[in-house]
This record gives sequence, C-alpha cells and structure tokens, in this order.
Amino acid sequence: MSVSGTCQLCGTREITDDCGRCGKLVCATHYDDSFGYCTNCVTEIRGAKEPTSTPEEDEFSDGVDTFRS
Ligand SMILES: [Zn+2]
Ligand SMILES: [Zn+2]
Repeated sequence: MSVSGTCQLCGTREITDDCGRCGKLVCATHYDDSFGYCTNCVTEIRGAKEPTSTPEEDEFSDGVDTFRS
C-alpha cells in the first residue's frame, strides 16, 4: 500500500510511515520507530504510563541573607 501526501501532523513533510495506533500518516520526524506510532500517540502512551511528576520549585539556595547595617 503506497501512500502519498504530507504528514498529518506537520503538513509539510512527506509521509514515510503510518501510525500503528491511530493510523495517522506521518513523516519521519513525527514517527517513532521504537514504538511504530506517531509522536502524538507516543506522547499519550508515555503520559499515561508515567504520571507527570510535579517538578519541585528550583529555588536558589543562597543561605541566610542577613541585612548589613
Ligand atoms: Zn510531520
Ligand atoms: Zn498515532
């Protein structure tokens, strides 16, 4: 089955593969070889598997700043 056209995600690059999950026709940039899915699906899967950990606020630890008089 040959496909022609442009990636359904970016709409600019040539289609190279079709997603094995949602069936989108995507370019190499938006296709993840290791999954066989489009980047959209990979992001969804990863998001579902790994609960987004709340990043701790990275405050500057500059110690105690005492006022000089
Ligand atoms: Zn693309
Ligand atoms: Zn997909």
